[in-house]
Amino acid sequence: MQILETPLHVVPGVIPKKAALLRKDCGIETVGDLLTWYPFRYIDRTKVYTVREINDELPYIQLVGRLEQIKLVGKQKKQRLSALLRDSSGIVELVWFQGIKYVQDKIRPGMDFLVFGKPANFHGTWNIPHPDIELYSAEKAAQASKLQPVYSSSEAMKRAFLESKGLSAMIQNILRFVEGKIDETVPESMRHELNLIGLEQAFRWIHQPSNPEELKKAEKRLKFEELFFLQIRLIRQNLVNKRQIKGFAFESIGKYFNTFYKEHMPFELTNAQKRVIKEVRSDVARPIQMNRLVQGDVGSGKTIVAFMSMLMALDNGFQACMMAPTEILAQQHYLSLSELARAIGVNIRLLTGSSKTKERREIHQALEEGTLHILVGTHALLEDKVKFHNLGFVVIDEQHRFGVAQRAKLWAKNHLPPHVLIMSATPIPRTLAMTLYGDLDVSVIDELPPGRKPIQTVHRYDSERPVVLEFLKKEISKGRQVYFVYPLIEESEQLDYRNLFEGYEHLVSWFPAPQYHLSIVHGKLKPADKEFEMQRFVKKETQIMVATTVIEVGVNVPNASVMVIESAERFGLSQLHQLRGRVGRGADQSYCMMITGVKLSSDARIRLKTMTETNDGFKIAEVDLRLRGPGDLQGTQQSGTLDLKLSDLSRDAALISWCREQAQALLERDPNLEAAENHCIKERLLLLQSKQMNWGRIS
Ligand code: ADP
Ligand code: MG
Repeated sequence: MQILETPLHVVPGVIPKKAALLRKDCGIETVGDLLTWYPFRYIDRTKVYTVREINDELPYIQLVGRLEQIKLVGKQKKQRLSALLRDSSGIVELVWFQGIKYVQDKIRPGMDFLVFGKPANFHGTWNIPHPDIELYSAEKAAQASKLQPVYSSSEAMKRAFLESKGLSAMIQNILRFVEGKIDETVPESMRHELNLIGLEQAFRWIHQPSNPEELKKAEKRLKFEELFFLQIRLIRQNLVNKRQIKGFAFESIGKYFNTFYKEHMPFELTNAQKRVIKEVRSDVARPIQMNRLVQGDVGSGKTIVAFMSMLMALDNGFQACMMAPTEILAQQHYLSLSELARAIGVNIRLLTGSSKTKERREIHQALEEGTLHILVGTHALLEDKVKFHNLGFVVIDEQHRFGVAQRAKLWAKNHLPPHVLIMSATPIPRTLAMTLYGDLDVSVIDELPPGRKPIQTVHRYDSERPVVLEFLKKEISKGRQVYFVYPLIEESEQLDYRNLFEGYEHLVSWFPAPQYHLSIVHGKLKPADKEFEMQRFVKKETQIMVATTVIEVGVNVPNASVMVIESAERFGLSQLHQLRGRVGRGADQSYCMMITGVKLSSDARIRLKTMTETNDGFKIAEVDLRLRGPGDLQGTQQSGTLDLKLSDLSRDAALISWCREQAQALLERDPNLEAAENHCIKERLLLLQSKQMNWGRIS
């Protein structure tokens, strides 16, 4: 057994009670678990200050001085021990309220001490309560000058002397226990080439760095440990997938694609769109199933990319389908695609839960006969009754709302699985995409169609609502339309609906008939009623659409130029960005107005500020990732735990790419890790596998 797998409680000197507490409160069971309980920060003890330098900005300070007056102040229970420390620049008071006896025995006037603590300001004079003190000598000073680790611990741990210092002591003990026994996981030659220190050294230096350079080296090595093995796993998984899954080869580009491209393109494609279409083209030309994720910000023009990809299938005698998570979204896709399809005589139909029986039957038949080329729909497409003549291409919108089992159903609709193009409007930072979707090819549409004016975004408080409403009147008088969105969160649904309806009433009083007309759409409406209201807005019969977040995805009304978001502090960043993406689709200047109360959490402030500062979905996703952590990010829930303790997906972007390159290079040299020198890598992988890190397949 490897030493890192040793249960903590069998290590000499570890008190069983403490081991049990660590397991209970932190999930720490083994020596390795404790060694990867990394300090979350360090206190810099490399610098010695002078008394005169004490100020508000220094959280901790280290001084060297001579003790002068030492005395007990106050009565019995409220007694404190006070000692004055003088250095060349002045005098500061050291104070103890507890452990007085113990300290008293150690200090005498005239002794030199190295003092470390957090200065406190009491009525304008500085003192240092409960400092760490050490008898000073030049020799000792050299030893003491280092970065002191700070560990997190629970309340119960603190009571059991497992606070930061106690943990540090325990880790010191562990480091002695493992000395010379930690198996190296990266071959010597590779470490040399990549300038990586040994694993054992890295553990030692991360917990006890003598200087910032040691800390840096330790961090680099340990982050490499996490990311390199993660990437090897992902790349191998990807190779396995690609090797195993046969698919249809679309040999040529034909009539549909060419006719559309030459004669019916509604606009010039952006370079990003062209690039992604080319990527799809080269994928589907091979007899291997494509699994490609296309990321593009809202409004970047994913629809036409999907459409032209589907034409490649049609040209080769295959059918295509597009699946969307909601009925409204499916409808919207159907409308945009039919417009594109009409000109070249492509047959396209919509199938959702509310399709009528007769219609359904027609669709089923046309589908089996092969006269229906493209089917757009919701989960209804998955039903067993839906049989294709020859399905070859599937577009999935907002994939994160589909489960693995559901996608598997789609694959089974032909004797080989169709090519899969997943469209995501939730931009995931590249680094994260690479890590999470290592087994998926990723395309990015990182360019918006020309002529868009950036949406102007402002934050307004509740009290400023009248100003906002006056502004809306002006916009409406220019013929524009407006969205008014209310949050709807399951836990407070009742209250949310009340807010929505009260808000609606309030708006009606500001915008009275017959001059103004309002639509209202929310989750409690029947699909048909919802549709009716939506259509009134689409047809410009109403100027204001009051809604809950049902309009979050997909709706395309280019004439709508203002998005007002009520209680904006309750929305997450990606939701705010999605909502804002509903406007700015036409040529007019568009606006997003976020209304909030005055009480805002610091995270909410960051969200609002980010929104007003940038329209870039990728930047927003980076901030979102920083605020929420990858576990909460949309689309990542099904990907299993990342188990990264030191690396930070948003901050370590460059390192992640580098580790990926190294992993790729290694697997090219030695795909099965058979070389003797790579034995240690293989061992490490086997161990990780046996621990069953949870890597669900993503597509
Ligand atoms: P999304 O990526 O959000 O799905 P859409 O495909 O709905 O974006 O496109 C948004 C709008 O931009 C649509 O009205 C579409 O017709 C238009 N559009 C897409 N690509 C271009 C382009 N290259 N030039 C001009 N307009 C475009
Ligand atoms: Mg879209």
